[in-house]
Amino acid sequence: MKNVIIIGAGPAGLTAAYQLLKKGKGEYKVTIIEADKQVGGISKTINYKGNRMDLGGHRFFTKEVEVKKIWKEILPLQITTINPDKKESVMLIRNRVSRIFYEDKFYDYPITINFKTIRNLGFFRTVFCGFSYLRYKIFPKVENNLEDFYINRFGKKLYSMFFCGYTEKVWGRKPKEISKDWGYQRVKGISISAVLKDYIKRIFKVEDKSKETSLIDKFYYPKYGPGQFYEEMSKKIKDMGGKIICNSTVIKINLNEKKINSLIYLKNNKEYTKKADIVISTMPIKDLLESFNKVDSHILNIASSLPYRDFITVGVLVPKLSIENTTKIKTLNNIIPDNWLYVQDNKVHLGRIQIFNNWSPYMVKNNEKTVWLGLEYFCNENDWLWSSSDEEIKNYACRELKKMKIIDQDVLDSCCIRVKKAYPAYFDSYKDIDKIKKYLNKIDNLYCIGRNGQHRYNNMDHSMLTAIKCADNILKNKKNKNNIWNVNVEKDYHEEEK
Ligand SMILES: Cc1cc2nc3c(=O)[nH]c(=O)nc-3n(C[C@H](O)[C@H](O)[C@H](O)COP(=O)(O)OP(=O)(O)OC[C@H]3O[C@@H](n4cnc5c(N)ncnc54)[C@H](O)[C@@H]3O)c2cc1C
Repeated sequence: MKNVIIIGAGPAGLTAAYQLLKKGKGEYKVTIIEADKQVGGISKTINYKGNRMDLGGHRFFTKEVEVKKIWKEILPLQITTINPDKKESVMLIRNRVSRIFYEDKFYDYPITINFKTIRNLGFFRTVFCGFSYLRYKIFPKVENNLEDFYINRFGKKLYSMFFCGYTEKVWGRKPKEISKDWGYQRVKGISISAVLKDYIKRIFKVEDKSKETSLIDKFYYPKYGPGQFYEEMSKKIKDMGGKIICNSTVIKINLNEKKINSLIYLKNNKEYTKKADIVISTMPIKDLLESFNKVDSHILNIASSLPYRDFITVGVLVPKLSIENTTKIKTLNNIIPDNWLYVQDNKVHLGRIQIFNNWSPYMVKNNEKTVWLGLEYFCNENDWLWSSSDEEIKNYACRELKKMKIIDQDVLDSCCIRVKKAYPAYFDSYKDIDKIKKYLNKIDNLYCIGRNGQHRYNNMDHSMLTAIKCADNILKNKKNKNNIWNVNVEKDYHEEEK
């Protein structure tokens, strides 16, 4: 049997284990080493006194057939939106509602010029936005960075109101300093014209299979959050003979020429050595290279300065919100229908607000009498916010909610969760990422998959797809790893790169 060691029990690590055990005809002994006490990685669900929260809200949506197949194998789909029976392990179908909260008003996301926007912005500001949009439609800028990317798609005025400050909140950098790659990777075809097309199709009820990812208005969501999905997956892995060792951090990887021989992990302050025939890594590329016993110093320098953005989420339990539901969408207790709100207002530091009642009512212990919010702050490890105490952060978050007039009374309870390296960023030494890829590809028995494992802004589906491809390569003894690195690098993205 080949000894496969997988670093990390997030979506990618678990999927690799699941596929190898399911398809490997008993030829692989699979062990996952996970630093956290629970599985799911960034896609886990926290259970705080019976109220559940994601680290950010995690929609399950994908165009990838192989990924969807696995979703259905793990959790059966519940056709009705809310589960009327007592089945615990199901995937619900949910509606996506998410709006922008700006200057105390709601705007559609992505921002578009429609009647509501005109009413909120006022006539003159709208005309100004329209002219600015046309100006860059007719004379587009050469796209050198993310600012150019946005201006060409939305015009300068809308960009300065809705994208500039918010991007800085998310990344801690001005859009001018960020590569246009990020736009192609995440925003892809979103623009005013894409949004208008979608709007017209909706009026005439035309189904569009190629719809842009950010406009998808239904998604799957496990009854008790994404963590439930990964808990179920890990049960199946264990049933097939796989081993998951939690609370254990890989700290050293022993390389001999082009092969990893063994790795060392730390559990309860004790070091353990594991021999490996194959290593699949989902740990951040920076940490991976820093843990090698020997590495080319030039490559190590690039890896050590790869940028990340960290994340803090504050769970806040309130009896009610002070903003009203003025939409036609019906909700329990008539709370606003949004799964989440984008806070593009610069008067607060807050980036997004999740309303977990609207993700799944089963996330909230008492969904008839309480609203369970997730307040999201993008930050850097060791900046002023990260260095504050949990108590200070919780108080700060509650003050911001009051400042935005979203609540007007004291909260019932709150919790604070920090997530290191939540976002792999596309600036600084990222420009040299191909050198790292080339270096890692030379290590025959190492596969780098997932989000931080590839330093790519992958969602769960693409993180899982890298794992599916990796398992396929191992099963077919295919040596070339390009198909794994090429996941989520779309054709138009390639063309822009030339
Ligand atoms: C705020 C936010 C919202 C998101 N929303 C969505 C969404 O709506 N839909 C969606 O599809 N995706 C979403 N994502 C993306 C999703 O979280 C990731 O794509 C996914 O979790 C990546 O899976 P992964 O297995 O590659 O990595 P991770 O989830 O990061 O898992 C890696 C695992 O490796 C472990 N690890 C790291 N280093 C070591 C080590 N040295 N030793 C042992 N273990 C180690 C970590 O503890 C972790 O458990 C979101 C992400 C964020 C941050």
